[in-house]
Amino acid sequence: MVITLVRRVTAACVLGAALTACAATPHQAPQAPRVARPAPSATSAPPTLAPGPGGLTPVFKNGSRDRGKTVALTFDADMTADQGPRAAAGEHFDNPGLIAALRALKVPATVFMTGRWAEEYPDQARSLGRDALFEVANHSYSHYAFTDDCYGLPTVSGDRMRADVERAYAAFRKAGVPDARPYFRFPGGCYDRRALKALTPVGVTAVQWDVVSGDAFATDAEAVSRQVLEGVRPGSVVVMHCTRSAAPTTERVVRTVVPELRARGFRFVKVSELIGS
Ligand SMILES: [Zn+2]
Repeated sequence: MVITLVRRVTAACVLGAALTACAATPHQAPQAPRVARPAPSATSAPPTLAPGPGGLTPVFKNGSRDRGKTVALTFDADMTADQGPRAAAGEHFDNPGLIAALRALKVPATVFMTGRWAEEYPDQARSLGRDALFEVANHSYSHYAFTDDCYGLPTVSGDRMRADVERAYAAFRKAGVPDARPYFRFPGGCYDRRALKALTPVGVTAVQWDVVSGDAFATDAEAVSRQVLEGVRPGSVVVMHCTRSAAPTTERVVRTVVPELRARGFRFVKVSELIGS
């Protein structure tokens, strides 16, 4: 169990920083109890979890293990606030082929987008936001870390955390994403009690994962596919990336694991469905 946990955490990479390796262990606070708050019938408000102890931002890691074989593929659209010059020089932080594959395979998915990514690729952000197959969620504006020690990422100060998340939502609106979800993924998955407290006023549910695909910086699509297929259980949340330059195998991985998981009886859902069930 310990070995498994260490392997998964170690394999969780951060894209978008000026780094090439993944090693650090994220700070993690205990997971909040799974208390689903049903959406009001008069609106289409997405389900969120009840606040954790002390009103802290709740944390969701995976769905129920005994309510059917569902799995949520999640894709982090990483771009860091200081990577504009690299994009201008031709580096691709987007991955249109991956999105096309998800559409062709009719796989619902949740995209955790940085505000900076939405600024760089507004047409793609809008297209994702207006396609019922997808839901757009928040991965911060800057992709800076919310703890002091997170894969070498620059850190966002405590008094700027809330603003960084709200700035991402503003970037989504500006790009034309009509209803970004109240779900937030911490850059690198790194958080602590201070970060959860800082985001309480935003009203988001923090979304982690239980399956690391290992697609970040990967070159062997088969190895990544194997890791996903070995890790998925009913209710799993799989973390992958929608960033061609740093996760070049992801489209091939999707084309491999989707038919295989369907053959095993799994149904693909968005994070909102896992949280609400
Ligand atoms: Zn990220």
